[in-house]
Amino acid sequence: MSDDHSHPDLKHHVPLSERAKRAIAIHRLLVAKGIIGPAEVESVIDQVRTRSPADGAKVVARAWTDPAYKGRLLSDSRSAVLELGYRLSRDADLAVVENTAGVHHLVVCTLCSCYPTALLGPPPDWYKSFAYRQRAVVEPRAVLREFGTELDECARVRVVDSTADLRYLVLPRRPGGTDGMSEVELAGLVTRDSMVGVGEAKTP
Ligand code: FE
Repeated sequence: MSDDHSHPDLKHHVPLSERAKRAIAIHRLLVAKGIIGPAEVESVIDQVRTRSPADGAKVVARAWTDPAYKGRLLSDSRSAVLELGYRLSRDADLAVVENTAGVHHLVVCTLCSCYPTALLGPPPDWYKSFAYRQRAVVEPRAVLREFGTELDECARVRVVDSTADLRYLVLPRRPGGTDGMSEVELAGLVTRDSMVGVGEAKTP
């Protein structure tokens, strides 16, 4: 087959890793079989690269300031996110889970690295690490402590396992002392870690 997948920047004298060779072979096969178009992978990567935790933060800030929106976000997360103009993959559903005084959610993908990239951008390296994927389910409180998150003893920790079909986003608790703040100011308190559940939103 002809190679219409050229990377002008790629230095061909650098040997490719086995993983990179496998990824290129799979890409070529998918294109050859007509399952995806030649530019489709790049287009998806571009979509992910243009997203960042600031996008998820806008969704959280809206939920903090608009109780009706929050209700929709928790009951039908996909529609509520689309409402704000975000695009979600057709193949993966989204569930937003709410942290309260009584229950703290921690998101992991035990199998690989499934993550709500449409709202947070690419996942951090630690999220993809074997150590996090294993320890988040075995000793979540110890993991939280390492991220500097001390929970109330009576708070329950609920670990949710993201998959290729369903990705989780945490709606962190709104910090105290934020009553007069605007939606934009509130969004500035929402960190990536608070939406994965390893941290909490910043206090002003
Ligand atoms: Fe995964």
